[in-house]
Amino acid sequence: MTSTFVGTRLASALACPRCHGSLDFSLVCTICGPVGTRRGDQLDFGGFGESELRADALNRIKELVKTRFHKLYPAAIKVLSPVQDRPGLVNPFLRSFDLDRELVAGFGCGTHRRDERVVCMDGGSYGNVDIVTDLRRLPLADDSLAGGVSIAVLEHVPDPAVHIAEMHRVLRPGGRMLVFVPFMQPFHASPYDFQRYTEVGLREQFGAFEVLSVKVGAGPTSGMLWVLQEWLACCCRSAAAACTGRSCR
Ligand SMILES: [Zn+2]
Repeated sequence: MTSTFVGTRLASALACPRCHGSLDFSLVCTICGPVGTRRGDQLDFGGFGESELRADALNRIKELVKTRFHKLYPAAIKVLSPVQDRPGLVNPFLRSFDLDRELVAGFGCGTHRRDERVVCMDGGSYGNVDIVTDLRRLPLADDSLAGGVSIAVLEHVPDPAVHIAEMHRVLRPGGRMLVFVPFMQPFHASPYDFQRYTEVGLREQFGAFEVLSVKVGAGPTSGMLWVLQEWLACCCRSAAAACTGRSCR
């Protein structure tokens, strides 16, 4: 674990991702047998394979930056992404918890560690990740979390309903989630990209939750900039193809 706090708090929350029975840091379930491996402070229950991470050309570059310069990647996103990470949403949400006492997880945190006391979970085994896992099978006990954060993750999960049901299972009664998803954004594999959401679609997906608030996190200007960026890239590719005598549509 990245901190003694997370390690200590996680000990009581850890569970077999298959049967949800109790699990210690040996990661051997008394029913299912070995369900993960430990690499230093990182618990690996099986995340993305190398071939998955390298399937999309742009994602190959992203993965290279994430793994070689994982502390730089969040800063690069802030500079280059038209829809920037939303510290104005996340930080106040995290401050609404007593993080010294309450366990909060980042689902699909990527290379972002927002607070040393937040458990970082992802399908990629980046250096800052505490638990490498398929988000559809969380290695946490029922009602074990006070809160969770999911920022631009849901569109990358193949079975979002399964992942949402898992988040609901591990969240204690009265626990709270912050979820940020795109409505209009071009394709961006990480390593996959499956869907977009409308407000009513999001409410439907989170029907098991009490929805406290739904807000527009990034407006039409961000959407337009995303599309404009893609269009300009397309123009550049077309121009380059024309220069080399190849067609490009
Ligand atoms: Zn088990």
